[in-house]
Amino acid sequence: MRIQTKHYINGAFVESTGTEVLDVINPATEEVIGKISNGTAEDVDRAVQAAKEAFPAFSQTTKEERIELLNNIAHEYEKRKKEFIDTVTEELGAPLHLSERSHYNMGLAHFREAAKQLETFEFEEIRGNSVIRKEPIGVSGLITPWNFPTNQTTTKLSSAFAAGCTVVLKPSELTPYSAIMLTEIFEKAGLPKGVFNLVNGTGQTVGNAITSHPDVEFISFTGSGETGKIISKNAANTIKKVALELGGKSPLIVLPDFDIEIAVKLAVANVVFNCGQMCTAASRTLVPKDKVEQFIELAVKRLERYPVGDPRDPGSALGPVISQQQFDRVQGYIQKGIEEGARVVAGGLGKPEGLEKGYYVKPTIFADVTNDMTIAQEEIFGPVMSIITYETVDEAIEIANDTIYGLSAYVLGEDKATIEKVAHSIRAGQVNINGAIADYSIPFGGVKQSGIGREWGDYGINEYLEIKSIIGIY
Ligand code: NAD
Repeated sequence: MRIQTKHYINGAFVESTGTEVLDVINPATEEVIGKISNGTAEDVDRAVQAAKEAFPAFSQTTKEERIELLNNIAHEYEKRKKEFIDTVTEELGAPLHLSERSHYNMGLAHFREAAKQLETFEFEEIRGNSVIRKEPIGVSGLITPWNFPTNQTTTKLSSAFAAGCTVVLKPSELTPYSAIMLTEIFEKAGLPKGVFNLVNGTGQTVGNAITSHPDVEFISFTGSGETGKIISKNAANTIKKVALELGGKSPLIVLPDFDIEIAVKLAVANVVFNCGQMCTAASRTLVPKDKVEQFIELAVKRLERYPVGDPRDPGSALGPVISQQQFDRVQGYIQKGIEEGARVVAGGLGKPEGLEKGYYVKPTIFADVTNDMTIAQEEIFGPVMSIITYETVDEAIEIANDTIYGLSAYVLGEDKATIEKVAHSIRAGQVNINGAIADYSIPFGGVKQSGIGREWGDYGINEYLEIKSIIGIY
């Protein structure tokens, strides 16, 4: 049993001022695997004060000192590889191979990338007789979701530290243990006290206290649109800068000249990744009308390669979804899809056979989906593919853009001019061509209701900096 009912404030694990304790559940077994405190506004206040006191010194550290710090963190992180993999699998339910290949690696990549970016990052620009300086914004409140417990925390933390900001982190109460491990790593890596503070608990208590605290200058939030709206409103009272990484309903457009078998392979792999619990999931698959029956047949067959099961079993490609609530949400959307006339060609309602315990869902493919259906408009956050047909490339672009979201898009094609036309016409923060692999120096974030701001690499560091103009100094 993992019991960590303390918060980490001003360089030490300290008792909470509250008494409420939250259970943490393993989604594969539905058993309680640990306990954390539900922090209080008072805990948050202590954490913010520690971050505020640490800010003047940390914000003045040199680039070289912060590069060394980030490299030390990466080094300590690597030492705990096996533990990270086990922890993510236990708290999130991700299969072990995914915890290693994706979750563990992403966490490491952000620290390494931030150190690399800092080497060439310019904090000052001389223009005429003036200097334009980029200065750390101040105490930053970081609030993260459960679906990538290492990635979302580390992209924020690495950028904040690179910029010279001090922070208060509230990870998701559903997956708090990776963040607790990070805390131990920062201590080992020699992060000065007060630079990093961790307060565990719910959004209602800890989250709200962070977003409304007058000494927090910047909020970086990843999570749902609903929470993003609450946070923006709260933060407005003290005019905080807010960065939001929210949901998506990303289109994957298979262009007419692309190999259909490769398209199926990429589309299915994307939609089942992390059990579909991915803000960038390509949950709307746009296929030329004359190729759709072939696509469906191949996709149904391809899905058989992704068995659902115990995440500790090396044969499992998908584990459970995170919680009973998430299970119900996915079931609700599958039901809605059926009611609105979409055709289930694989998966469907209920749990996969033999998996009664644990929040397991059946990876599902819907055909005959139109873009006005609920399953094409709302984020499901489960392994559900909605196949939509189009007749012309212009129509594909129109469908792709017919959403409140704009996080990512995927384009599969051969003709460069058509690919460019589609990529330039889609309103999204990121367009991925032909299954290109992730590059941690490339900005990540959304437009429209998918968010505000960018993370990763130098663009991520910029979020934690304010611009100061010193006019007439030369
Ligand atoms: P959520 O919004 O419920 O919770 C996210 C975090 O916000 C948690 O730590 C939660 O405790 C906290 N929170 C909840 N209410 C709060 C409040 N009133 N004030 C402050 N904090 C509060 O989201 P979730 O269910 O954990 O995550 C799933 C959502 O996250 C999906 O919508 C998904 O698309 C989105 N997401 C977006 C990205 C991205 O980068 N764009 C990445 C991953 C997940």
